[in-house]
Amino acid sequence: MMTAIQLLRWHANHNFCSRCGASATVSDFELAYVCTVCHYRQYPRIQPCVIVAITRQFEGRTQLLLAHHRRYGDNPMYGLIAGFVEIGESLEGAVHREVEEETGLAISNLRYHSSQPWAYPSNLMVGFYADCVNENASDELKLDDTELTDAQFFDLDNLPKIPFKGSIARTLIDELLVIKTQGV
Ligand SMILES: [Zn+2]
Repeated sequence: MMTAIQLLRWHANHNFCSRCGASATVSDFELAYVCTVCHYRQYPRIQPCVIVAITRQFEGRTQLLLAHHRRYGDNPMYGLIAGFVEIGESLEGAVHREVEEETGLAISNLRYHSSQPWAYPSNLMVGFYADCVNENASDELKLDDTELTDAQFFDLDNLPKIPFKGSIARTLIDELLVIKTQGV
């Protein structure tokens, strides 16, 4: 499904060469459009995005950072911190930068968890866990209000509405709940 959506969009968007503007045709041996004039090859593009579940210890309890993103509008859902990887940046570097930019917090102990293709528009979501290193993190939250309307650390047994099952955000949160509440 995700593959089909991304391929359909790719086919719709690459009928002309991005170098010289001539028409392009599908290669007969690989997934590429080939310019009929200059032979420039255009391959499907994937945009890597990082997403991170950040926890802290607070009065003996584990808490999870969740944010209400401006793009959620009136939906009261809270999600994880996420963003696009920039050119020249590592995945780890992108996580540290996004967290700092959106919340002002510093993180440590960054752990890769899993990844998920996401066809809107053509992303590869790369999921991580991390620990918050700020001792008084709630006081030190400095939200990027162009992206976020709110962010808070929530007790795991008192989470707000979270992303739907099947999303990598939900997978990261659900596995955290299993680990922290059942001691697995
Ligand atoms: Zn061309």
